Amino acid sequence: MFDSLSDRLGGVFDRLRGRGALTEADVRTAMREVRVALLEADVALPVARSFVEKITEQAIGQNVLRSVTPGQQVVKIVHDGLIDMLGSDTAELEIDVTPPAVIMMVGLQGSGKTTTTAKIARLLKKQGKKVMMASLDVNRPAAQEQLAVLGTQIEVVTLPIVAGQQPVDIGRRALQSAKLQGFDVVMLDTAGRLHVDQALMDEMKAVADIARPQETLLVVDSLTGQDAVNVASSFSEQVALTGVVLTRMDGDARGGAALSMRAVTGKPIKFAGMGEKLDQIEPFHPKRVAGRILGMGDVVSLVERAAESIQQEDAERMANRLAKGQFDMNDLRSQLQQMRNMGGLGALAGMIPGMKKAQAAMAGGAMDEKILLRMDAMITSMTVKERGKPELINAKRKIRIAKGSGTTVQDVNKLLKMHLEMQTAMKKLRKMGGLKGMLGMLG
Ligand code: GDP
Repeated sequence: MFDSLSDRLGGVFDRLRGRGALTEADVRTAMREVRVALLEADVALPVARSFVEKITEQAIGQNVLRSVTPGQQVVKIVHDGLIDMLGSDTAELEIDVTPPAVIMMVGLQGSGKTTTTAKIARLLKKQGKKVMMASLDVNRPAAQEQLAVLGTQIEVVTLPIVAGQQPVDIGRRALQSAKLQGFDVVMLDTAGRLHVDQALMDEMKAVADIARPQETLLVVDSLTGQDAVNVASSFSEQVALTGVVLTRMDGDARGGAALSMRAVTGKPIKFAGMGEKLDQIEPFHPKRVAGRILGMGDVVSLVERAAESIQQEDAERMANRLAKGQFDMNDLRSQLQQMRNMGGLGALAGMIPGMKKAQAAMAGGAMDEKILLRMDAMITSMTVKERGKPELINAKRKIRIAKGSGTTVQDVNKLLKMHLEMQTAMKKLRKMGGLKGMLGMLG
């Protein structure tokens, strides 16, 4: 599945891969191509647009890690963005209630609803649940018999057919009989429809009223792409869906329905149908699916490992330097960067000696992302020598640094003062022998 989308994205990343450093223009070009690839995969336009906006921002703002290329890092950002779009965690069935739990299956005719009912019943039976299925489809000839045949194949009980009985009454009978016979789960296979039509919607609502389902799963055919998403939107306006099952994912090379479903309907995809056979269904794992789409699991884990090892290295290097009572501008900068990675100051500010005081001096209290970036820019404008020995910075150099970083001499003074305070605090701490505890916190 998703083959053509995988190919397209693969091409985009191949072009980035050889680059040692990515410019903003490189990222923007790549993201434009990602957007085209998503649209060709039939992803809904607003979904593709907001996805690309989000990941562009992340890709441009990110510090490049040592030991991976910027291109590899972009792969990781897109990968995480896909997971986010698909719904992050696997959404389980929530049927942990006093039995019998009711699962109502809804969807258009031919979407694979009856097959999927049997597939899920089989999964639940394998988990040790006592399951009953009932077909409420009195419109399609032989629909009830079809479910009975599937029930026999998977050895799951189906509600005996009573000719002429209407859907709401069948539902009532199913619940009563499940209660009496101690079933854990009742699956109601409601009537399909050719398109969204009001009479059948009303019938579905009437059944929901008496059955009070824990799960209402909409079955849609992934091959119908954006139509599947539109069907899901109209159903979710009428009944309280709890999830979506996408069928025929085995034949879906484009993936548009899967990728847009969550964003457009707000409902998780709970299962993916992967073939006609009754064991061909899988819980929908956003992480695995994102991995399959990109087909670059190796790159993703490489970047993850690099990020971890760099944090580790930084902490160790810092610990070594502190043990010697050293704290220069490079140390300050790596602290600031860590704070930015952690999304703000909060906890860390309190942990670094002198930080609270320096922070107050710098920003009159609040220290936000902007200030961190400004401090980083000032350090960038220093020479290597100055970073190691800030006391070398004289009045003339302060003016240059302020100019180079778009700040003022006062800002530079504040930064230098902050550094000095932190350095003093580090030295004091070392003398007091409190370093061990402190290092523990940093490590
Ligand atoms: P219903 O009208 O919605 O109840 O649809 P059915 O359950 O009768 O399924 C219609 C057809 O789709 C049948 O031939 C099924 O075997 C087929 N089908 C259902 N799910 C899948 C799937 O995940 N993959 C494939 N390839 N075929 C499926």
